[in-house]
Amino acid sequence: MEANDYATLIQSVEERILAGGAILRSEAEALLDTPDELLVRLLAAADRVRIRFKGGEFDSCSLINARSGLCGEDCAFCAQSSRHRGSAPVYGLVSEEEILAAARAAKEAGATRFCTVTSGGTLSDVEFDKLTAALERVSREVQIPLDASLGFLDENRARRLRESGVTRYNHNLETSRDHYPAICTTHTYDQRVDTVRTVLGEGLSACCGGIIGLGETAHQRLDLAFTLADLGVDCVPLNILNPRPGTRLENAVPPQPLEILKTVALFRLILPKATIKIAGGREVNLGDFQGMALRSGANGMIIGGYLTTSGRGEEQDRIMVTQAGFLLDHEPCASPAAVTA
Ligand code: SF4
Repeated sequence: MEANDYATLIQSVEERILAGGAILRSEAEALLDTPDELLVRLLAAADRVRIRFKGGEFDSCSLINARSGLCGEDCAFCAQSSRHRGSAPVYGLVSEEEILAAARAAKEAGATRFCTVTSGGTLSDVEFDKLTAALERVSREVQIPLDASLGFLDENRARRLRESGVTRYNHNLETSRDHYPAICTTHTYDQRVDTVRTVLGEGLSACCGGIIGLGETAHQRLDLAFTLADLGVDCVPLNILNPRPGTRLENAVPPQPLEILKTVALFRLILPKATIKIAGGREVNLGDFQGMALRSGANGMIIGGYLTTSGRGEEQDRIMVTQAGFLLDHEPCASPAAVTA
């Protein structure tokens, strides 16, 4: 394709999405090759789509790693796998008081949501009971929308989380179906998809994304985006690999900033109504381009640190988000209905 052809394609895709239509797989494939001199047109088109469907709404989520390490799964990127010489801290389920204090701190720091995350494929019944009791208390005592990310989930647990005040559940697909066996061998892609379907079936908002830089091709990134669109997820965290010492991907080379921005823009064009969050690895991989990601289709971030790595100060993030033109004090989306309307 000539440069003019890319400009025409970007414009026609944008116009169709703004009119309520969808990008075709073949068009997204073609846009992967957008030449650098036209990249800003692609980013600007994604930004306009974000403005149309999400406005100035910004989703900032703060996490607590409520149980760390000791995981029997073998996800290639993860320092919490007991199969790696991981550097992540190792501890069992934290106390109710610690979760409550973290939720209060998240609210104080300006987070719009608070997410409780635990390592491992799933929690024991005893741990799940303790955690739901803690979340009920957070729900009563701290006015902040609640997310949870506790591994695989069945209908009963999804319903109990909803009854405890959780409105969104995170379970990432991580990468494309055909790349997944290179990333994890201890469970299947279908197990992950099943949990996402269960979450949606129980009326929770589904937060589901992945990590770019796991050795996948650009086409496999599109596979992930189209799979998420087909599932109808509400929120898509996009992590960028920050290689952890001792993991199988410790020597992987993460993507460059312009490639990350192009990926963010294509995810926005494929998932026009979803919240798209730049998540783990954003500081180290995007560097000076972080703010640019917020004008390339993203409308959210994880703030205040990640599961096994630290972030930067909330105040710095707050300034960046405000300067990028977002509203930080809006009423956050609390239900799937609100998110997908
Ligand atoms: S990503 Fe989750 S399931 Fe996979 S090794 Fe890490 S903690 Fe375990």
